[in-house]
Amino acid sequence: MNQQKKQLVENQPRLRLRITAAAEAQLRAGHPWLYGDSVREQNRDGAAGELAVIFDRQDKFLAVGLFDPDSPIRVRILHVGKPQTIDAAWWSARLAQSVELRRTLFDDQTNGYRLINGESDGWPGLVLDRYDQTLVMKLYTAAWLPRFEEIANLIRSQLNLQRLVLRLSRNIQPAARKILLSEDGQIVYGDRLEACPTFLENGIRFEADVCHGQKTGFFLDQRENRRAVESLAKGRHILNAFSFSGGFSLYAARGGATSVTDLDISAHALASAERNFALNQSVPAVARCDHKSIQADAFDWFAANEQRKFDLIVLDPPSFAKRETERAGAIRAYEKLAGLGIQHLANGGILVACSCSAHVTAEEFFEAIRRSAAKSARPFQEIQTTRHAPDHHATFKEADYLKGIYLHF
Ligand code: SAH
Repeated sequence: MNQQKKQLVENQPRLRLRITAAAEAQLRAGHPWLYGDSVREQNRDGAAGELAVIFDRQDKFLAVGLFDPDSPIRVRILHVGKPQTIDAAWWSARLAQSVELRRTLFDDQTNGYRLINGESDGWPGLVLDRYDQTLVMKLYTAAWLPRFEEIANLIRSQLNLQRLVLRLSRNIQPAARKILLSEDGQIVYGDRLEACPTFLENGIRFEADVCHGQKTGFFLDQRENRRAVESLAKGRHILNAFSFSGGFSLYAARGGATSVTDLDISAHALASAERNFALNQSVPAVARCDHKSIQADAFDWFAANEQRKFDLIVLDPPSFAKRETERAGAIRAYEKLAGLGIQHLANGGILVACSCSAHVTAEEFFEAIRRSAAKSARPFQEIQTTRHAPDHHATFKEADYLKGIYLHF
C-alpha cells in the first residue's frame, strides 16, 4: 500500500460493525465468516484488508477480522472473545501456533505438508504449504494484500526456509497486480527456480509445480489415503483414475503393485507422474512395477473399455460441485463414476473412492458410493471411510471437503 493511502486508513477511527443476532451467535460458535447482509451498522466505509471490530448487542467487543468491501464475506474473523491487539507480536504468535500444531506430525521422511490451513488455523483465506525448502503461500482473498509484506517478512524470519512463492486465486489477481505489483507464481524471496522443486512424502520423492500447478503444486491432502493404498497394493494390478502427478501410484508401486496405470485427461499431469516414477527408481519395488499412462476422459474410457479389469481402483476426481446448486448433480456423478469403477474391478478387487466437494457431505457421498455398490449386485464389504489429514484439519462446515471410502468386492 502506498504511504498516502496508509496514512488515510491510520488517521480514521477504527472500523466498527454491529451485526444481526443470528450472525452474532454464529461467530460465537466459531464460524469464521461474517456476510455483508449480516451487518446492521457500520461507522464508515472500510478498505480491503483493514481490521474491523465487531461489537455485540451489549456493545462489548465480540470479534476482530479482516474487512473486505468487495466480497460477500465482509469480514474474515481473526479472533473471537476477549479484546486483543493485533500487532506484530500477535501475528508472530499465531504463526508459531500453526507451526507447533505440526511439529510432531512428521519425521524427516516427510518435508512436504501444509503449515497453514486457512480459517481452520486462524488465517482466513490463506494457505501455506511447505515443499522442503520452498514455501508456497496461496491467497484466496484480497484482504491479505495490504498486509502481505508484513506476513512474508514474518514467515521469512520465523520459518527460516530458502524460498517463498506467492500464488493467487484467479479473482484476486487484478488486485494483486495493482497493490503488490505481483503476478501469480512470483518468487517473493529466494533463488529463482530452474526446475520444479522436489520434496519427500513418507520417503517418496515428488516434484511440485509450485509456480503454475493446481492449488500449490501438489495435492498434499491425500497423504494418508495414499499410505492406505500402499498397504493394500501388494501383487495387485492398479488403476489410478484422475491420477494427476501420480501420488497414489507411487505409493501403490512401493507397496508392491504388479502394475499401476495412471488415467488422466491431462498430458501435463501424466508427464509429471512419469517424472515422479523416474525420481524413485532407487526403490526396488517402484523399479519393478509396470507403470503405464492413459490420457483420456475417465468416464469415456471406462465406458469404452469394458473388458479391462483391475484389482484396485482409485477414483479421486476434481470437485463435481463448485457451488451449492450443483450438489444433486455431483452426487449422481459420484454414483455413476463408482458404478463404472466397480464394473472394472476383478473379483476380490478394492474400490477407493474420494470426493473433494465441500458441497457434498461425507454421508451423502458415502451413501452414493454404497448405493452404487448395492446396484452392482456383487457382494462387498466396507473396509473403512476416511476424512481430513491432521495438517488439513477443518474446523467448520465449509472447510470440510475431503472424504474417502474403501470397498472390497
Ligand atoms: N488424485 C490426485 C489428485 C487429482 S486432481 C492426487 O492424489 O494427486 C484431479 C485430476 O483429475 C487432475 O489431474 C485433472 O487433470 C484430472 N481430470 C479432470 N477431469 C478429468 C476427466 N474427466 N477424466 C480424467 N481426468 C480428469
